[in-house]
Amino acid sequence: MQFNKVTDKIVAELISILGQANVIVEAEKMEMYAKDEVSDRLWEKMPEVVVKPENTQQVSEIVKLANRELIPITPRGAGSGLAAGAVPLQGGMVLSLEKMNKILDVDTENLFMVCEPGVTTGEVQKTAKEQGLLYAGDPCSADSSFIAGNVATNAGGNKAVKYGVTSRHIYGLEIVMPDGEIVTFGGKNVKDVTGYDIVHLMVGSEGTLGIVTKVWLKLMPLPKYVADLLIPFADMQTAIKVVPKIMTAGIIPTCLEFMDSLSIKSAEMYLNKKLPYGDAGAYVICEVDGTSETQVQDDYETIGKLAMENGALEVFVADNMSTQERIWKARKCYAEAIRMISPVYCMEDIVVPVSNIPKAIEAIERISAKYECKIPSAGHAGDGNIHCTILRENRDDHEWHELKDAVLEELYEEVYALGGNLSGEHGIGAKRAKAMDKHLTDAQRKVLVTIKKALDPNGIMNPGKVLI
Ligand SMILES: Cc1cc2nc3c(=O)[nH]c(=O)nc-3n(C[C@H](O)[C@H](O)[C@H](O)COP(=O)(O)OP(=O)(O)OC[C@H]3O[C@@H](n4cnc5c(N)ncnc54)[C@H](O)[C@@H]3O)c2cc1C
Repeated sequence: MQFNKVTDKIVAELISILGQANVIVEAEKMEMYAKDEVSDRLWEKMPEVVVKPENTQQVSEIVKLANRELIPITPRGAGSGLAAGAVPLQGGMVLSLEKMNKILDVDTENLFMVCEPGVTTGEVQKTAKEQGLLYAGDPCSADSSFIAGNVATNAGGNKAVKYGVTSRHIYGLEIVMPDGEIVTFGGKNVKDVTGYDIVHLMVGSEGTLGIVTKVWLKLMPLPKYVADLLIPFADMQTAIKVVPKIMTAGIIPTCLEFMDSLSIKSAEMYLNKKLPYGDAGAYVICEVDGTSETQVQDDYETIGKLAMENGALEVFVADNMSTQERIWKARKCYAEAIRMISPVYCMEDIVVPVSNIPKAIEAIERISAKYECKIPSAGHAGDGNIHCTILRENRDDHEWHELKDAVLEELYEEVYALGGNLSGEHGIGAKRAKAMDKHLTDAQRKVLVTIKKALDPNGIMNPGKVLI
């Protein structure tokens, strides 16, 4: 695809749409828009201009201009992505949704919230909670990520085991299409089979099919009782083998997470705190919730018993907010804690059927030993989603790129052989586009390319992401 450069004339037109303050061209102010949370410089690129619309009409006018002038647009939420999806790798403009950050409606009768795209996930959760309601989307990045970023990546997170990933919480979207047309699909109806399910085509499309400018979110009653279990094990294989057993015990845990020994040790370093059984080979962390105290107690006792029968060293139960927060801080700081051991790393997001998690962990350990590199793992065990992170440590650029490419190639082959996929929740972005393409069948690729070409014939919407 041949794109044009952003000229002074185009900048002047953008200023006439948005005002001077919302059009950024100064290098030092654009630097933060040149990357996301991928730590490798390979995935950084300065935009030619950053625009910050304040309403949908302005988004539409910007997109019409970009489509006419063949300027690539990279939509951007909070930039917490882990796939280089919000990085303008083919130049052009970054369209930041940070100024469209209002909650427009909390409908406590129909159990809906309507938001602009730039509201943080944490703000959505907090606002729902203040009304005695639950917004069940819960990525570990909730404090920083934007709700439309979650929509665009179909974010998962801790509570996905019981409540599902973001797509399960979205009932309607307003979208600015690649030709600048504003269109709404879905809304406050819980059921809707009126035509194609465009809402769920847009969810997870990573800014390649349009820009999300309004979101209708599902709310639920807030569970009254919550308990968390921290379960240390002597080694990783014993720990991970208990996961399929818990998942088939007739209980649906809200969260079922794991951390390996290096992840536990780095969390201790990052938090500057001793954790219980800090020298354990692995933790399993489990949450159960419900409206009845007895039910919650029955559930965690069943899980605790199962864990002890299958090699747990101990079962710690946290049924109050402060101990629960301590447990979750250790799990949620995984990315920041890993950075303390190696500032450059490659965080992966593989997913396999739950019954194959022990085999996937075995494969990671085998690859780690073969290439003599550390690959700490943690993640959402209950839905088969493993965050394994290749650490650069002291390697030079050449050694690092060789190592990373070799490890990824072998890892993805193992994952597909186990019936898995290369991303469970972080998405494809630019970082995994080539690898995904390698594993697509011709028929799958044809469907994806046909959709992209039909909706975005000029290819201006986040080029180079998802599809190569
Ligand atoms: C510490 C940490 C923990 C994390 N934990 C999780 C986790 O538990 N689960 C999980 O799924 N992810 C997790 N992530 C990854 C990341 O937070 C999610 O992918 C998140 O959904 C990205 O939201 P964002 O607003 O930061 O989007 P960005 O990073 O800004 O963008 C991500 C993608 O969405 C597109 N996009 C953004 N906004 C829009 C819009 N309005 N319209 C169209 N396209 C848009 C961008 O073009 C890009 O392709 C974590 C990241 C970090 C750093």
